[in-house]
Amino acid sequence: MVERIACGGVNCYIVGVPGACTLVDTATEKYSERLRARAEELGVRVIVITHCHYDHAGGAAKLSSSLGVPIAMHPADIPLMTDPGCFRMRADTLSGRIMLRMRGRHPRRKVTPFSPTIDPSGGLDFAAYGGAGEAVMLPGHTPGSIGVLYDGCLIAGDAVYNIFAPCRSKFYCDGDEAGYSYRRILADDRVSVVYPGHGRPIVLNKNKPMLTPVTE
Ligand SMILES: [Zn+2]
Ligand SMILES: [Zn+2]
Repeated sequence: MVERIACGGVNCYIVGVPGACTLVDTATEKYSERLRARAEELGVRVIVITHCHYDHAGGAAKLSSSLGVPIAMHPADIPLMTDPGCFRMRADTLSGRIMLRMRGRHPRRKVTPFSPTIDPSGGLDFAAYGGAGEAVMLPGHTPGSIGVLYDGCLIAGDAVYNIFAPCRSKFYCDGDEAGYSYRRILADDRVSVVYPGHGRPIVLNKNKPMLTPVTE
């Protein structure tokens, strides 16, 4: 099961089977109560943060304590928790530059600090923590960006956007790495559907590299 929970402009996901689920991303604290209720119903055992931007990780501290479950996040993103501007972001398209500028003006872009006690770098299986899915390294958008692969589905965080059309990160710390991560997703035989951090899911066709938006 992959359940997409749209929280404003960002997607959170619950993957796994009831009683052994992983919550991927937490949105901001505004959505914590809604996510907590659904996470309790489905039996979330672990929270995975794809990367430490406020729209994905803002509610992590609150949800971790209300659910009583640990948080996995790549250590390379820890500096973002206290200093959201510590890595310089770039964009090479007009839409990316507009998004980056709008993001810079956002007043609530700080993440409430939390302790990621699980280090997923290297490709951890979250079944070890009672959840589901496997960590996939997708650096570029941020240094510690990761995805979660579960049953042919890749929860990709901001390594893939699907706002106007499917594409790699609209803005990033490292454009070369972001492009490399995106091409690796397209070439990954284990992946059939990509679930982006923003926008609707995308089918990864057999005649890769083509991403096609799908209706849910
Ligand atoms: Zn992001
Ligand atoms: Zn995002």
